[in-house]
Amino acid sequence: MNPIIDAHIHLDLYEESFRKQMLSELDQNSIIHLIAVSNDLNSCLKNLTWSMQEQRIKPALGFHPEQSLPSKEEAEKIADLIRRYEKHIVAIGEVGLPYYTRQDHPEIHVPPYLDLLEHFLRLANELDKPVVLHAIYEDADLVCDLLEKHQINHAHFHWFKGSPSTIKRMINNRFFISVTPDCLYEEEIHDLIKQYPLDLIMVETDGPWPFDGPFEHLATHPKMIHDSVRKISELKNQAIETVYDLLYKNTVKFYRLNRNE
Ligand SMILES: [Zn+2]
Repeated sequence: MNPIIDAHIHLDLYEESFRKQMLSELDQNSIIHLIAVSNDLNSCLKNLTWSMQEQRIKPALGFHPEQSLPSKEEAEKIADLIRRYEKHIVAIGEVGLPYYTRQDHPEIHVPPYLDLLEHFLRLANELDKPVVLHAIYEDADLVCDLLEKHQINHAHFHWFKGSPSTIKRMINNRFFISVTPDCLYEEEIHDLIKQYPLDLIMVETDGPWPFDGPFEHLATHPKMIHDSVRKISELKNQAIETVYDLLYKNTVKFYRLNRNE
């Protein structure tokens, strides 16, 4: 079985027993690393602790944008952790803008979210860390503005969706995207994969987020990435071995995983 990396997973959102089971099944599924992104301070602390117990867990610290803004104290504590564990963490994330929350609550003010994001981007620049972004459709353009302003190109837009012009802009900036198991059944994602250069793509689950199609009623597990790779090789019309190799190398390079071992 070819080696894979889950480039975006929320380990702390899994039920404890399933998380433990999943972690015990990494070898049998050739899962070499998990990029464990954080939602809030609590989640940062959990990911840090687990990453010290299991080398394959590579933590990213941040504050997820699809929730109320953190208190000043919480945001400062997260920044302190990022600085303190600078050498141990692989990235800053998950950070970005509240796209889905705004669909239900259009009254939400975006500027404070942009400020928080900018605070994390400054930190990423200062510490030379990659950023993991939650920014889709129109929000991706706002985030591109900020990244360009801060001259950051080490950016990963996870589960990206956007217009053809945004896709073009992202490719020009050489920003990375990652695709989830929904690439097996979402037309929109098929088109994205066909357009996006393979050397800028990674694979992820965003677990425990559940999927449909062949994954309906299944608990999301990083091993599903093997199916995603097969689908990507089909859409790109490239040999599966080549695609496995490239996706793996992209992720190792982007998250500088060799340096941390
Ligand atoms: Zn996520």
